[in-house]
Parts: sequence; structure tokens; C-alpha cells
Amino acid sequence: MRTVSAYAAPSATEPLIATTIERRDVGPNDVLIDIKFAGICHSDIHTVRGEWGGQQFPLTPGHEIAGIVAEVGSNVTKHTVGDRVGVGCLVNSCGECTSCLAGLEQHCLNGNVGTYGAVDRDGTITQGGYSSHVVVNENFVLNIPEGIDLDVAAPLLCAGITTYSPLRHWGVGPGTRVAIVGLGGLGHMGVKIASALGAEVTVLSQTLNKKEDGLKLGADHYYATGDPETFTKLAGSFDFILNTVSAAIDINAYLRLLAIDGVMVNVGAPAEPLPVNAFSLIGGRRSFAGSNIGGIAETQEMLNFCAEHGFGAEIEVISADQINEAYERVLRSDVRYRFVIDTATLPAVGA
Ligand SMILES: [Zn+2]
Ligand SMILES: [Zn+2]
Repeated sequence: MRTVSAYAAPSATEPLIATTIERRDVGPNDVLIDIKFAGICHSDIHTVRGEWGGQQFPLTPGHEIAGIVAEVGSNVTKHTVGDRVGVGCLVNSCGECTSCLAGLEQHCLNGNVGTYGAVDRDGTITQGGYSSHVVVNENFVLNIPEGIDLDVAAPLLCAGITTYSPLRHWGVGPGTRVAIVGLGGLGHMGVKIASALGAEVTVLSQTLNKKEDGLKLGADHYYATGDPETFTKLAGSFDFILNTVSAAIDINAYLRLLAIDGVMVNVGAPAEPLPVNAFSLIGGRRSFAGSNIGGIAETQEMLNFCAEHGFGAEIEVISADQINEAYERVLRSDVRYRFVIDTATLPAVGA
């Protein structure tokens, strides 16, 4: 075991504090990563506040991790000391079920292991990336290609793959008319990736406040959903809608924006059920679907794609002592577009 510096939530109702956590010894198939940057995902806030179920505290969140390999186990072949690497939302899975064999570790039939707050296959509770170091099985460690800086790469490990996977799965490309609902951490990556895939991209946001940003990120059009005329004007005009909003929205109003055979995919996760009128689907043979991050191979494909196209996330780098303030700003949607913690600002162990 090694003691490393971290930020952790002592309970569901207290702010995160500087602390230390234990990391396991580097096993034969493990990689020790010197974490450089960790993104703040909205899921981190839901989880540490107990909004997605009870947790074992203290808990260190963070599943958008970028760093440098510091040590490798004796059987490791995929990574060497000094490599630029990342870890996303998964750190383990059974490796044997049909999902795992198909590269869909996020759908492991025996339960995937999340990067924090999950019971690992050795029985310990996983602790995330708001930390100086992490030990991860080599199969769940991604290579970050040269050409993407580590700070802007970190958010790709969750926000990037969450949007890339459905865009790829449903074959978005040149000629596809895509709408991205919501321009936050997920939405801004959706715009960049859909645009790089060659689609015609429209942002649907509550107001026109971020219009200039949206067009700069690659959108062709930008409409305010606060204006009822938007829904009349755009009826039947999209092949694919990616909903990144975590709040309850009027799904039927958005389904009517789909053309025949259009698909609307939810990657936002509102706590409340979303009522869907069957007629919104029947008319126009439309589909309403969901998508959850992506498998390890696809996550690597996404990182390579972003590097080829020369982009990462739009970020605001913060120091560790700004994490709690950043949480409040995320909840107010006051971030363009992802907070990333510079882990060099974590207090040293024993300090
Ligand atoms: Zn996330
Ligand atoms: Zn499995």
C-alpha cells in the first residue's frame, strides 16, 4: 500500500477536504499513474452528495484522469514508464462475459467497476482521480496521443466518450443533420465531435447566451429552446438528436423535431422519469434511445480521433482548494465548459 494525497468528501453533506488515501501495491497487471489533471464531472457531485444512492465515505471522486505512467507491473505490455495515459469511468470488469468480449465493458454482465465509489473485484471501494496517484489494471488505461495536452485530454475520458459513442453508433457523418441539446460539459464535446465527423450541427440551448461559443466550437446553427417558435420552425428537420441535459425536458416536443427514421439519444440522466407519447414515435418511425459512456477500445478510438482533429475539451484549470467552489459553479451552469483540477496543487502527504 502507498499513501497518496487526495481530496475527499467526508460525508454526503460536507464539503470536500484535503486528505490522504491508500492505493494498492502495483500488481503484475497494474500501472501506477502520476495524475496530472482530473476533470470535474457533474456525476461526481451527484455521487458524493448521495443523490445516486448511498456511498461509503470518505469518498474521492473523479473519473476524468490524465497523467504519466510512473511504474508498471511485471506482466504489463501495453504501457511503459513515462507514457501519457488516461483513465475514464471504468477501472475493471469481468473480462469474460459477452459484453466484455465484445469490447462493451461498460455493459459487463457481471457488473463493471466504476472508477470511484464502486466495489472492486478485490472487495475494496474504488477511489477516483482527485488525487496524486492511482493504480489501475493496464487494460483500463488509455493512451493519450501526442497532440492533445493532458489538461484538455482529461475531460475526454468521460464527456468525450459519452458523446462520441452514440454519434458513432448511430452512424453520424457527412449529410447527417444533428441537434445537440444543451451546451455544457457534454454538449460542447458533442458539438466538436459531431462537427469533426462532418455532420451539420445545430445547438438547441435554453437561451442564445452561448451562441458565439457554440458557433466557434463548430455548430452551423444555434436556436433558443426558450422561444416556442424554435419548435415550429425546426419540426421534422433532424436525423439525430443528442440530449445532454440532466434536467427533465419535454421529450415529445424534441421528438417532433426528428425527421422520418430519426433517433433521439439521451446521455443526460435526469432523476425523474421522462414521459414519452407513443404517437411521437409512431408518426415518423422515430426512436428514443439511451447510451452510457463507451468501451475501452472505443474510448481509445475517440482519443485518437480527437488528436487527429487537433482538439480536446474547453477547460478552466483550478487548484484543489477551489473544488467546492467549482461544484457550486457547475450546479449554476457557470463553467465554460469543464473544470479541471491541477493535481500539483494537492497538499503533499504529511504537509
Ligand atoms: Zn462523468
Ligand atoms: Zn463482463
